[in-house]
Amino acid sequence: MTALALDGARRFVDALWNDSILPVLTEYVAIPAKSPHFDPDWQAHGQLDRAVALAEAWCRAQPIRGLAVEVVRLPGRTPLLLLEVPGPGDDAVLLYGHLDKQPEMEPWADGLAPWRPVRRGDRLYGRGGADDGYAVFASLAALGALHAQGVQHARCVALIETCEESGSFDLPAYLAHLKPRIGTPSLVVCLDSGCGDYQRLWCTTSLRGIAAGVLRVRVLEEGVHSGDASGVVPSSFRIARSLLSRIEDERSGRILPPELHVAIPAERATQAAAAARVLGPEHWRRFPFAGATGPLGEEGAERVLNRTWRPFLEVTGAGGLPDLESAGNVLRPETALKLSLRLPPRLDAELAVARLRALLEADPPAGAQVRFEPDQAAQGWDAPPLAPWLAGAVERASRGWFGTDAAFMGEGGTIPFMAMLGEAFPSAQFLITGVLGPGANAHGPNEFLDLPTARRLSGCVAWILSEHATRPR
Ligand SMILES: [Zn+2]
Repeated sequence: MTALALDGARRFVDALWNDSILPVLTEYVAIPAKSPHFDPDWQAHGQLDRAVALAEAWCRAQPIRGLAVEVVRLPGRTPLLLLEVPGPGDDAVLLYGHLDKQPEMEPWADGLAPWRPVRRGDRLYGRGGADDGYAVFASLAALGALHAQGVQHARCVALIETCEESGSFDLPAYLAHLKPRIGTPSLVVCLDSGCGDYQRLWCTTSLRGIAAGVLRVRVLEEGVHSGDASGVVPSSFRIARSLLSRIEDERSGRILPPELHVAIPAERATQAAAAARVLGPEHWRRFPFAGATGPLGEEGAERVLNRTWRPFLEVTGAGGLPDLESAGNVLRPETALKLSLRLPPRLDAELAVARLRALLEADPPAGAQVRFEPDQAAQGWDAPPLAPWLAGAVERASRGWFGTDAAFMGEGGTIPFMAMLGEAFPSAQFLITGVLGPGANAHGPNEFLDLPTARRLSGCVAWILSEHATRPR
């Protein structure tokens, strides 16, 4: 059995990234391939199709024996790029990535813009390079490195979807449609997650879920002079504010209903303490705090757990409030707030949404019209116990490609796909990792891909695929 020779693999991966992947990824960043939520006319605009066609053409050109490339299109759904590389027996690995993007989030820093790829040192700036355009290229770079040395791997199937930033609503249909071709993977590799720093291989052990929707408080049929009405007509903003206090403590941000929390498993608390030691205060300093703003919670493991195992609320948008320039002295008829509640792993998202609705709509203050209109309920995820072979492979991959030990941490974000897969393949092992580290700012302005990390991750995936193929069974 040939083992992967690290030096040769490093040369292969570096050359492929520099000469082949970087130019095409640069082109990809320039495509405004916004996810369907942010571009309901995506079919007419054709940007998702352009992104898929670009990646498809690159994949087809890769000299990987037996590689089959296909764009699958179920009627009325976003396209999906399917890659298959044969392997011995019926064992299989499922690799995952996505080519749809978040919207612009202007303004970006000087010289940068969402659809303008800019290379600065080791970073490629622009929307969608890190989240998650690089994944398909890194996956094939890993397989290419194995093929270049004749190193064995199991049959690999890559699903590269274009609906992730909209909650992967098209993915279940594709999973069902492609079930016979996917088979029963014993390993799932997902390259759409985060990393605590750029110095090691980070494995994501859990993800938070999300419950989101619009809280609407209506007190009048139309706006009236505030001098005339205030003191008589209740403020919709004040009512909304008081309703929020049913959900969170306005001083600490702690979510109040106990049923929106879960018991944190001991192993996850231990891993959080280890991650906190590795990260130090960079864990929170990396956020662009304004002025003297400081972080929530206590230093160390508690803050890591706050971000990964506890629910927290943000108001992500508002309606019924005019722009500051056009705000007159009006008692406004309505306040609408978009609520985004991150949920702990293992908490049932549908139940959480139902609970939110019940809490917000019960007993409306001043008899106001109060409605909560849910628009998202995505399940969090908690990894199954790590198999010894994968634990060893992850450590060896991190030492080989980064020169340091691996680290394990939950992520605060949501990848609805992971919960779907965890349910579909309960006996699979999971390697969830990514390049979204300090400053990478996926979803925000100035998103960048850290290129050395992308190359090393490609190498780590190659290493882990080779150990997977020879693991004791
Ligand atoms: Zn993503």
